[in-house]
Amino acid sequence: MSVQQKIDVGVVLGAGRELDVRQTVSIPDFGSYSFSSPADVALSVRRLGRGLEIEGTADVTASGQCARCLDDVRLPLHLEIDESLEPGRDRDDPLGENNVLVGDELDVGDLVRQLIDSALPLVLHCTDDCGGLCPACGNQRNGACRCPQTTE
Ligand SMILES: [Zn+2]
Ligand SMILES: [Zn+2]
Repeated sequence: MSVQQKIDVGVVLGAGRELDVRQTVSIPDFGSYSFSSPADVALSVRRLGRGLEIEGTADVTASGQCARCLDDVRLPLHLEIDESLEPGRDRDDPLGENNVLVGDELDVGDLVRQLIDSALPLVLHCTDDCGGLCPACGNQRNGACRCPQTTE
């Protein structure tokens, strides 16, 4: 399923008008992360040179697993967006500088997905001091495990 989330920024690039964008963007699974609800996106789009300046916020909650104890972890993300984009040179050029801005079309979905994917931590922990799983009983060391503490 692919949702087209492109907006026409012709008035911004042509007439220099400012455009406010409010929309939700569904985020596909990325690595070990999934997203049960779409991102809330609020952007203002301004002309900057031949391209665009995009400022705003995106909010989404990522779901993942603690790398130590495998508990489910919900990670709320709040992104401050401040990007400038040059228009892609050629609509049919897959190696153009970006596919986010092509002609008068700004792909808000693609932009937000890229920013969220790059904001996700490489390794997720439920708490900074998560002790992981006990090798003896299999329970969470800082949770249900009642084994005597061993020093390694
Ligand atoms: Zn953990
Ligand atoms: Zn244990």
